[in-house]
Amino acid sequence: MSVTNEVPPTLDEMIFAISQINYNTVYQPLSPPPPSTDRLSAPLGNITKPSPTKTLTNADTDVDEDNSENEEDNDEENRAMSVSAELDSSRWHPAKKSKHLVLLDLLALLLVSEATSDVAATMLRTNGTMKFYYSKNRPCTDSENQYVRKLFNHVSETNRSVADRYTNLMAAIVDKCQKKIKSRISKVLRRVRELPTDRGIHSEDRLPLELVEKLKANLRIGPEQSLRNRLIAWLDSLSPAQRLKDPEFLRDAIVSAHSIGFPSDINLLIDQKLLRRIRKLGDYMGAVIQLVGEVDLLPPQFLQTLVIQEVPPPPPDRIVIKKTSVEIVEQWARNRHIEGPTETNLRIQFPSLPHPLSQQSTITRSVHCECTLITKIVNDLVQQGTSPFVTLEVGVSKSLCNLCEVFMGSVKKRYPNITIMVSTHHGKNVSGWRLPPLTPLKISQEVEGHINSCIEEIRCKATQERRSDSIPRVFESAFGQEAANFALCLFNPTI
Ligand SMILES: [Zn+2]
Repeated sequence: MSVTNEVPPTLDEMIFAISQINYNTVYQPLSPPPPSTDRLSAPLGNITKPSPTKTLTNADTDVDEDNSENEEDNDEENRAMSVSAELDSSRWHPAKKSKHLVLLDLLALLLVSEATSDVAATMLRTNGTMKFYYSKNRPCTDSENQYVRKLFNHVSETNRSVADRYTNLMAAIVDKCQKKIKSRISKVLRRVRELPTDRGIHSEDRLPLELVEKLKANLRIGPEQSLRNRLIAWLDSLSPAQRLKDPEFLRDAIVSAHSIGFPSDINLLIDQKLLRRIRKLGDYMGAVIQLVGEVDLLPPQFLQTLVIQEVPPPPPDRIVIKKTSVEIVEQWARNRHIEGPTETNLRIQFPSLPHPLSQQSTITRSVHCECTLITKIVNDLVQQGTSPFVTLEVGVSKSLCNLCEVFMGSVKKRYPNITIMVSTHHGKNVSGWRLPPLTPLKISQEVEGHINSCIEEIRCKATQERRSDSIPRVFESAFGQEAANFALCLFNPTI
């Protein structure tokens, strides 16, 4: 075996490789083998005991080329997740989604102004005074900051009628979020085009009459009219492209979508995927209703002390990666003097690997908004020197990526008194993910350890495939990975 003095791949390169190979894992997989020398900058000793690996396939996440579509499909798993205090691993557990979390998610949606690649996170802290924090993956523009204040001004005008406040809020939202709203209308129409025969609206004839009448009454449809025909007519009315320029049209589309999507029984009548997209369009109205309703429940002094604060991340930057994802995994393995996979073997295990691989890729790196908010609060708590039991509810406009989830799991492990509640996750790896500045060392080490363990699992999968002429029964042994690691240290074989 030849000894190389090659440096290991950088963290950015490894994150790029994991995302390109489309390797997804929520839990920490195998511990990586120790590096052969002490040249690695990232200590690997903090890996916890191995836990089951969840590898999502394309079928699980319904991934396609369009990022905005991914957001749509991943949001389907709209379930609350929290890091449970009883656990010492970074597992996340479904929990009931509180009404505050619903509101924070909706507020995050209201902050998204671009049609794609724009995300936001929000957080409310009530500690004597009330503080609303928000962040994006890039620093907000002045106009975005003014818009957030405008929203809160409109909602706080409790001397005005609810109708006035709805009107003012919707006008501000339609003006600022029009790109995203148009994109949501387009998604509704795209699904309609996929369902050419009935536009995804089933006949109401097989539903109980009482239910049909209730739905009609909710939608202000006369008893003599067909519910199905009215819904089809509404979908058809969304089509003419020139109408998308009209703010009133956008507002009305949102209001109708909200009313259509609101009754739970409507799912008996509308194609599920179409209904999900209609509901997402209606979310803007849902946000306004929720926001006004919640504010009216607050004692007036709370609003007077409300502090609205952006937590800006560092500006995103662009880096060039001059290796293919296969070369990165090979380099990682060479550095450890272990067998690396060939491109062919990687492709067998990870068929979605792009073909051909690009030799040079430009990546935009950014700190994800939810990590920015969590880091801010954690650092504030540490500075205060107290460690009270704190529940941090983080609203997000888009599902958590895998590394954000690992990051939050690691925060939880480091600070057992902090519980993080966030409503979505999907465990997808995204290239260009960056640790927030001022991340505590233990947390950054753990995230780096996780990234290394992902590469190791990719390598194992790809190399085992080539060897597997027979079923490897030993892997079913109850003694597992710890025994295997012990044996490796004991005999120190050449692999
Ligand atoms: Zn993320």
